[in-house]
Amino acid sequence: MIPYFDLHCHLADEQYTPEEVKNILDICQKENITVCSMSTNFEDFEINLKYSEHPNVLVGFGIHPYEAHKIHKNPKWQEQIQKTIEEHQQKIKFLGEVGLDFYKTKDTLYQQIEVFEYFVYLSQKYNLPLSIHTRSAEKEVCDILAKYQKQKKLTAIFHCFTSTEKDIVKIILENEWYFGFGGIITFKKSTELIEILKYVYNNGGNILCETDSPYITPEPYRGKKNYPYFVKIIYQKIEKILNTSNFIRTLPVRNEKL
Ligand SMILES: [Zn+2]
Repeated sequence: MIPYFDLHCHLADEQYTPEEVKNILDICQKENITVCSMSTNFEDFEINLKYSEHPNVLVGFGIHPYEAHKIHKNPKWQEQIQKTIEEHQQKIKFLGEVGLDFYKTKDTLYQQIEVFEYFVYLSQKYNLPLSIHTRSAEKEVCDILAKYQKQKKLTAIFHCFTSTEKDIVKIILENEWYFGFGGIITFKKSTELIEILKYVYNNGGNILCETDSPYITPEPYRGKKNYPYFVKIIYQKIEKILNTSNFIRTLPVRNEKL
């Protein structure tokens, strides 16, 4: 059976009950879908760790930009983060969800940048891919990544990629980072994003599929709760747009489970 990967979702989100997650993972196991569950804070990560016992689950540890200012209050926040990674090195496959969001939370810019930059540093130190959230901060994210990439190649996934700015797309292509496409690509109004997807493919870019579930539900389920197994809808949509199923070049993860 063809393997599928949901490169970014949130099994630990409060919208899912543990029973629901069990059901989700049963379906994913039957359908050969590997689920990459991201964390937005320490509490999420604890929940994800439990789910990582399941053969189809890979786990990410990160501090979401909305959460950055909260952990930043602890004067030992860096040690706290590093200690978590050291303790769970066998389980952690991604550093995510991390990033910058200047759209909703402009007043926490400083804390967001410090926390994100620290994760970029750790991604090199521990050889872990970054799963990056960026909103109204694409340029700033690329600048930070480029600074570190000069020393050592980074594996950076731009989760839920929606930027239609050609300059940003080109920077990601040049650096061989990854484009994560999710539910938005199925929306009727996404004509510009579809053109970007084609451009990325035609220029040999790295394309990954994800759901960001329980958020950003694809058509025809838009408006309802999202699930990791809906990633098959994203795959089908991208296959249709690109007229090929040969778009996933590599999986940026070390994975002993596969
Ligand atoms: Zn997310």
